[in-house]
Amino acid sequence: MNTLLHGKKVLIVGMARSGLSAAELLWKKGAKVAVSDRRSRQELEKEIGFLREREISYEVGAHREESFASADLIVVSPGVSLRLPQLQQAIRTGKEVISEIELASRFLQGKVIGVTGSNGKTTTTSLIGEILKTAGFQVQIGGNIGVALTSLVDRSSTETVNVVELSSFQLEAIPTFRPDVALVLNVTSDHLDRYDSFEAYAQAKLNIFKNQTNFDLAVLNFEDQTLRRPLDAIRSRKFWFSADNEVEQGTYFDGKDLIFRLGDKREAVISKESIRLRGKHNLENIAAAITAARLVKAASAKIAQAVTQFQGVEHRLELVAEIEGIQFYNDSKATNTDATLKALEAFEAGIVLILGGRDKGSDFTVLSSLIKERVRHLILLGEASEKIKLQLSGIVPTLQAGSMDEAARFAFKQAAKGDVVLLAPACASFDMFQNYEHRGRAFKESVTRLMNR
Ligand code: ADP
Repeated sequence: MNTLLHGKKVLIVGMARSGLSAAELLWKKGAKVAVSDRRSRQELEKEIGFLREREISYEVGAHREESFASADLIVVSPGVSLRLPQLQQAIRTGKEVISEIELASRFLQGKVIGVTGSNGKTTTTSLIGEILKTAGFQVQIGGNIGVALTSLVDRSSTETVNVVELSSFQLEAIPTFRPDVALVLNVTSDHLDRYDSFEAYAQAKLNIFKNQTNFDLAVLNFEDQTLRRPLDAIRSRKFWFSADNEVEQGTYFDGKDLIFRLGDKREAVISKESIRLRGKHNLENIAAAITAARLVKAASAKIAQAVTQFQGVEHRLELVAEIEGIQFYNDSKATNTDATLKALEAFEAGIVLILGGRDKGSDFTVLSSLIKERVRHLILLGEASEKIKLQLSGIVPTLQAGSMDEAARFAFKQAAKGDVVLLAPACASFDMFQNYEHRGRAFKESVTRLMNR
């Protein structure tokens, strides 16, 4: 492959983390690399600095057609849509257009466990990583989790297990990427602003199986209707996980323990009592992780040890503090209605819910019945407030907050001892914050101020 790329003209579209990492890998392989981004020079100062240090060429401000036309290979960052006219034109003329994941997979050594789904990817990817480390494997974690897959290439060996979080965007333009174990956690509506239909979005997730053969393994959620359909596209051996029903091959919850089953053989891996994470959705994530770990032959005792220690990932149903008997949970990563539903399901009644942010074309009425059942008070924040108010009008008392600080204060005031204040916004954060981490931190700071007032 090295020799194949040597001296080749490669254009990388998108100058964010994955694009820069791809550029560096290709540069090391001796390709003639150029990176193109339509953002301005001022916005890309740091990125340009990185490229200049390596004498990698770049263009900013616009994607020049000529750059696409003269490239032998085009690598697309996950943040860039394949609908970009210049890319469409390149594809029409028969140019090879691949994603950063595909590029990485052509050099990455060892096994790949790929994790996708609408929700739970980061939690499950991290947990699989923790389990395999505990079990003594040589593990690397990357992909959508914030570490570009191309950056893992150098340190990979035939002994490595690469645990890779994959967004639906990263599963486009992957002509040969073939995970040894592919997990799909769930497929619920999200990103309908970037896909034409739910079916198109579901199809992008199922792409993870596209290049698998019957030597490979698939791990699927038994309770997800989209995944339960007969899926002819899956040639790999199927394993299931479920928090509700016994499965024949895979991991299920029997009301007491999580059981890994292969036909007649059943093995209790861990009891629910030993698990720190809240909510049935986390039981599903853990069941999925157990299945993947068992399939690469991690020992059950090691799995149990790692799951017992796992406290979850920041901004995912994270317990921030307890003030006067009121618990504050930060689920800023709940950026769609399904994640918010799961958060509500994780608690009994007595929730004061902070909702809102930037709408992604969501239907908030799906939250109505659980809100009616469990939420005492609703606090709305951000751009989507009006839409949410219209869709959920009159179900429970509702207040409008102008800032995160105000939202936390209002929530605290409305909550009684034993209640839970839950930030699970069901929206993106970009209306008021840089990202969901920023929003989560803002919430935690507001809670700290309440504590110190
Ligand atoms: P992702 O990486 O897919 O966004 P995360 O693990 O970061 O997933 O969790 C995202 C949000 O979804 C959080 O609000 C979390 O509480 C919730 N969540 C986690 N696992 C699941 C699941 N299996 N089903 C639904 N929601 C989930």
